[in-house]
Amino acid sequence: MKRRSPSMRKQRRKTSGRARVVARAVLPTRFGKFTVLGIHGRGPEETAVVLQHGRVNGRSVPLVRVHSQCLTGDVLTSQRCDCRAQLELSLRLIGRARSGLLLYLPQEGRGIGLLNKLKAYQWQDRGMDTVEANHRLGFAADSRDYRFSARALWALGVRRVRLLSNNPDKVKQLEEAGIRVVERVPCQPRTSRASRSYLQTKKAKLGHLLAGV
Ligand SMILES: [Zn+2]
Repeated sequence: MKRRSPSMRKQRRKTSGRARVVARAVLPTRFGKFTVLGIHGRGPEETAVVLQHGRVNGRSVPLVRVHSQCLTGDVLTSQRCDCRAQLELSLRLIGRARSGLLLYLPQEGRGIGLLNKLKAYQWQDRGMDTVEANHRLGFAADSRDYRFSARALWALGVRRVRLLSNNPDKVKQLEEAGIRVVERVPCQPRTSRASRSYLQTKKAKLGHLLAGV
């Protein structure tokens, strides 16, 4: 959105280590036919599963969702959060786009890991909100880092994206890592009543851009 400052360009150089495509296969889904890619970076943490729709190259500006894994939501259909609804909306929109990518990243629980997320749920059951519970466990409100996502996009030749996200920090981190977000596309599916207080906390305490919450 904004022009990158010299310090941002320096940051980009620092974070532009290698990420490479290690697997590529066809993946038919409920939302259309995709190509699934495995992308690997420097360590075991740096892995991404990418679903590609249409042609993606240096000239295209794909519609991109950078989705953090949520076992409880994405797989077990939990309604404590909006993750599965966001994932399905993203796949629907990307499946219709001429050029689109979904990056699925192992950043469970906003980066604190699955078991710590379950511990945070336990504190939330006692009345804390998601941010207070993370702090109670000694974690930041959001520990996610999107530099590897940027490098995965670079590995695919992508420099500019239309980003499906409500999270200004995600936009900022990707831009600092050298990806130009030419447009932020809201990712706000209809959600259940059970996830309302979670969304209200994301809006009030994490600055997410959510309408009507
Ligand atoms: Zn979730």
